[in-house]
Amino acid sequence: MARVHNFSAGPAALPLEVLEQTASELIDYRGCGMSVLEMSHRSAAYQRIYDETEACLRRILSIPDTYQVLFLQGGATLEFAAIPLNLMRRGRAGYVVSGNFAKKAWEEARRYGEAVALASSEDTNFDRIPDLSPVAERAACGDLDYIHICQNNTIFGTMYHELPSTGEVPLVADVSSCFLSMPLDIERYGVVYAGAQKNAGPAGVTVVIVRRDLIEDGPALPICPTYLDWRTQAAKGSMLNTPNTFGIYLCGKVFAWIERTGGLAAMEQRNRAKAELLYSLLDGIDLFFGTAQPASRSIANVTFRTASPELDAAFIAGARERGIEGIAGHRLVGGMRASIYNAVDMASVEALAAYMTEFEENRR
Ligand code: PMP
Repeated sequence: MARVHNFSAGPAALPLEVLEQTASELIDYRGCGMSVLEMSHRSAAYQRIYDETEACLRRILSIPDTYQVLFLQGGATLEFAAIPLNLMRRGRAGYVVSGNFAKKAWEEARRYGEAVALASSEDTNFDRIPDLSPVAERAACGDLDYIHICQNNTIFGTMYHELPSTGEVPLVADVSSCFLSMPLDIERYGVVYAGAQKNAGPAGVTVVIVRRDLIEDGPALPICPTYLDWRTQAAKGSMLNTPNTFGIYLCGKVFAWIERTGGLAAMEQRNRAKAELLYSLLDGIDLFFGTAQPASRSIANVTFRTASPELDAAFIAGARERGIEGIAGHRLVGGMRASIYNAVDMASVEALAAYMTEFEENRR
């Protein structure tokens, strides 16, 4: 069996163990005589899968009872609309524009109310998390329904190393590409949400963790589609309609793998070690440049380039010959991007590091 070194930004590598277990249960799930794909979401067997998936996520993230967990569809992108539709009750929210998805979230919110850009790093093509002092200042004014950040900017390879102070204003965070890569202090947030397809499971599942008082204190906006109404989804246990049953089941398998292999503290340690190896090469080899400013570097997506697009292309082509896949950078940045999520093991990162060293030596 030949498995490549998969550095894809998402959908991304899944733990081999998870794939093997899923394959072994596919035809007959634990004596049910059918696969999870064929099972009613209203069956007792499926409800057990759902409940254990949620319980495991609650254990690994230490999610307090005061927070609701939802497994929805439509990706992080649909939540860009759900957030204002649920929370913009007074019509105004703050956004930090730190990357492509942060900007998309902001633009979507502007369809429903006043979305104020509190800080932006677009002037330097999002190579950093912007200075966050205006966020705290504006939060103190007390006129915002929430403040939105994108905690890890997948395309630009930047992440928050400290959260902004938002005082009493609920902090809403798109954690799509850093979800489950390290512990998260859930109580710092009003809402965290993530598309599953990086660290949590397959595409097609969106995890939303929302502080219960935010959905209990008032209704969603009247124009909010029923599906997007978090209060309704909470009352229905994420089964207002047919959920992504198989996707949620697979997420449960990934959560159990994380728990078995040491939990989020262990994930963070491994992810930091992988990132440090790559960043040490970017700082040490003249041929390669990191595109994110050092103080904002992500431990999930490492973005870099050489001096020319031609050399970048040669590097990417050579990588493929060595079984290193998914390292072409996003078109908005160019160059390369190594997404080193939980399921990308150190051996893969070492293979990439060895190739980078070899590539540089061959050009001396
Ligand atoms: N936010 C972030 C940080 C992302 O990386 C992505 C996609 N990769 C999105 C939002 C959009 O997610 P989706 O495709 O799940 O809608």
